[in-house]
Order: sequence, then C-alpha cells, then structure tokens
Amino acid sequence: MSSTTGKCLCEQISVAVTKEALGAADKIVVCHCKNCRQNNGSLAAVDVIAPESSVKITGQPKIYQDTNTDSGKPMPRAFCGNCGSPIYRTSPSFPGMLIIKLGLFDEIPKPATEVYCKRRPTWVKAIDGAKQFDTMPK
Ligand SMILES: [Zn+2]
Ligand SMILES: [Zn+2]
Repeated sequence: MSSTTGKCLCEQISVAVTKEALGAADKIVVCHCKNCRQNNGSLAAVDVIAPESSVKITGQPKIYQDTNTDSGKPMPRAFCGNCGSPIYRTSPSFPGMLIIKLGLFDEIPKPATEVYCKRRPTWVKAIDGAKQFDTMPK
C-alpha cells in the first residue's frame, strides 16, 4: 500500500503512514490542550489518529511519559532525542492507534475536528467546517 513519509527536523526518524490513513478526514484532529501545546511548543497540535498497522517508524524515538493528563492515565509522547521534534503519542482513549504529528509531513490535510477548543486563544478562528469540542469527546 502506498504511503507518505514525514521526518523529524534532523531526519534521523521517519514516519511512513499509508495514504488511506492520511486520507481519513475525520481522523485529522487539532488539539488545543495545554499538554499538546507545550509538547509542540506551538499554537496547537495537528495530528492524524492512525492504526498502528498503517504506520512504519524508522529510527528510535525517545518516550516521555506525560502523567499530568485529564484522565490521570499516563500518555506516552515519542520525540526525537537528537533534534527534539515530537513524533507521536498514544492514548488509552485510542487503543491500537498512534496519534502522529502532521507537522513532520510536507502537506497537512485539513482537520475535520478540533478538541479542547476552550483552550484556543481568542484571536484564533475555528477551522471552517470542523467539528468543535470543548474537551475530548467520549
Ligand atoms: Zn530528529
Ligand atoms: Zn492535546
């Protein structure tokens, strides 16, 4: 199956995701939660929630166990130990899935969902047509 490959800044880690997984618009999500913001050092996280079977990671990301989560369950966050780029995270809410950072890729598909919108800065507009949630929908 054909895939698209993203890379961390130093290119030691690459992430190949099938085009099918990247094409699932409802799985392209912006997260405005504070943890994702800090982890990305940015306005928000833009991720694709992809089945593990659709992802191939080359290289050895380091894992940070994020324990300061809403659910209280640890959330492993993988990053490049050399350049610091965030790579993916996993979540007990999405078993068998990797939540991959779309900033690693040349093209970012349009997100269909925004979560933790209550954290979005007032000067940032909602994405036209995207579903809006104040927290993570159950
Ligand atoms: Zn790197
Ligand atoms: Zn988040």
